[in-house]
Amino acid sequence: MENLKKTDPDIYNAIQGETQREQDKILLIASENYASKAVLEAQGSVFTNKYAEGYPHKRYYGGCEYADAVEELAINRAKKIFGAEYVNVQPHSGSQANMAVYFSVLKPGDPILGMSLSNGGHLTHGASVNFTGMIYKPAYYGVHKETGYIDMDEVKSQAEKHRPKMIVVGASAYSRIIDFKAFSDIAKSVGAYLMADIAHIAGLIAAGIHPSPVSYADFVTSTTHKTLRGPRGGMIMCNKSEYAKAVDKIIFPGIQGGPLVHVIAAKAVAFKEALEPGFKDYQKRVLSNAAKLAEGLIKRGFKIFSGGTDNHLMLVDLRDMSVTGKEAEEALDKAGITANKNAIPHDTRPPAVTSGIRLGTPCVTTRGFGPEEMDEIADIIAGVIKNSSDESVISKMNNRVKALCDRHPIYK
Ligand SMILES: *Cc1c(COP(=O)(O)O)cnc(C)c1O
Repeated sequence: MENLKKTDPDIYNAIQGETQREQDKILLIASENYASKAVLEAQGSVFTNKYAEGYPHKRYYGGCEYADAVEELAINRAKKIFGAEYVNVQPHSGSQANMAVYFSVLKPGDPILGMSLSNGGHLTHGASVNFTGMIYKPAYYGVHKETGYIDMDEVKSQAEKHRPKMIVVGASAYSRIIDFKAFSDIAKSVGAYLMADIAHIAGLIAAGIHPSPVSYADFVTSTTHKTLRGPRGGMIMCNKSEYAKAVDKIIFPGIQGGPLVHVIAAKAVAFKEALEPGFKDYQKRVLSNAAKLAEGLIKRGFKIFSGGTDNHLMLVDLRDMSVTGKEAEEALDKAGITANKNAIPHDTRPPAVTSGIRLGTPCVTTRGFGPEEMDEIADIIAGVIKNSSDESVISKMNNRVKALCDRHPIYK
């Protein structure tokens, strides 16, 4: 990065600082990952210079032969991974992918049904502060108060009561297997479209270790940067040509201009990686690491919401403990562990405080941590949270974090 260093030392230094942070901290944010060097190189390529409004071989600009090749590779690899008939790889983000699906088949004021934000859903599933809550008439379902599993009876009763045009299934803080067929049956029974948002679990689905919604949902949306381990971005899949046509038209010219061809190139690279046998092993380790971390925390007296995890993340339920989610996040940060506070479903504390933290294993698994490290991380977390105001304990824990990180360099 010699050129950057010369042109803009401030930005250069920030990138160096961020690289060091990603190396020296244990990253347990469930929605993050370390994209490969190959992905980073593609994303940092000259394709950022290129305008390619339109789709392969139907562009509004000349000179798109290489952009066409890149986008076709991305589309074909995504089809192969997920078994979908049609894929649009142009959404700039997961939120844009969701916006495109809503706009392609709904009208303003239409009723929609999604998982509530406070129970683990995403902003774009109808939250009042989001465009989905402003434009549509949202209703919500959530998780069962005792079991922590999605309450399918509530999904059904809410669907029958509100008669949504679209049901959205998918979550940002839900640790259990999602029954997409059950959602599809309910959607069919009330004549609603079903959109499955697999932003978090796309990598697990790609590896075949979480059931796929592709044959059940009318639309499947995803991010490409979470468990899928690609560049920051979104994608949309469907199996009907009329849906595909509507989605393509909404993405461009409906809500986006020129596609980010450099990001699409990086998506194609990530998809190639996802088709390699090592990817399945990686995702299996993400799951076994999450299970091990949950087990280690339970062993040390913590409660995991819903009792455990089937995927890459868990919600640590701090309601019985003396710290809030906010305090836990801050104490962990001092010890070198990056995680986020998260509301526990039916939390009585406000969203800026919360009674939980969300932990995920995609990052630590990418850097090569295994079961032993997971148990040690559980021990460190327990030490930090139980002694959150004892600086000497925090500092000891920080030394253990550093030692773990030094043993497993990122981007080696
Ligand atoms: C992360 C996430 C998104 C949004 O992705 P962005 O790229 O941040 O816009 C959408 N849906 C779910 C379920 C998510 O977890």
